[in-house]
Amino acid sequence: MKTLGMIGGMSPESTVSYYHIINREVNRRLGANHSAEMLLYSIDFETIAAMQRAGDWRQAGEVLAAAAVKLAAMGAQAVVLATNTMHKVASAIEQAVDIPLIHVVDVTAEAVKRQGLNKVGLLGTRFTMNDDFYTERARASGIETIVPTEREQAEIHRIIFEELCLNRFTESAKAYYLGVMERLAEQGAQGIVFGCTEIGLLLSPQECPLPVFDSAQIHALAAVEFVLS
Ligand code: GLU
Repeated sequence: MKTLGMIGGMSPESTVSYYHIINREVNRRLGANHSAEMLLYSIDFETIAAMQRAGDWRQAGEVLAAAAVKLAAMGAQAVVLATNTMHKVASAIEQAVDIPLIHVVDVTAEAVKRQGLNKVGLLGTRFTMNDDFYTERARASGIETIVPTEREQAEIHRIIFEELCLNRFTESAKAYYLGVMERLAEQGAQGIVFGCTEIGLLLSPQECPLPVFDSAQIHALAAVEFVLS
């Protein structure tokens, strides 16, 4: 089995999901008491969130690159960065280490394509919905993304940071996200990408009006493919 290095803590709530998904899937596939060989570097999320707010992506990239270097030095053979937003600085990590980064956009786009879809609604932080690092990379994989209006993006973003990342789940947040999904469906979205690793903690795919692609689930399972490859 290969050793996975996970950079987590962004937020810790979704890192727990990754940890569960990866270990349960390894056990499902290998049986007995098997679980994943994994190193976790959990960041103090506020330090990164403050850099996001300040637009200091260079420094955030340096922090995450340093974490990846430590994981590689401890024996990690690949890095999984357990957040969508911070893939904005994926290249800083890739340049710092010789081991591969399992990129969340690539594996999520592949999952969408496997379902025969090519146009999806994207929910995530303002950075993810607004910035090319996500939408352009998805487009390069043949997936078109439709994003909510600016006003909707602001509320989706607020809910992520003020509620979901802090383990707060409310009926009003659920209703808001479902309303946005309905509007994205009216605009031609064939599915919805949960492009934020905490959204799957709020909503189950069964509750949603369109097929759901939960980045946390997809990304964690891609990490398992690596571990068992
Ligand atoms: N975990 C979230 C994501 O997938 C948001 C937190 C962050 O900004 O990293 O984008």
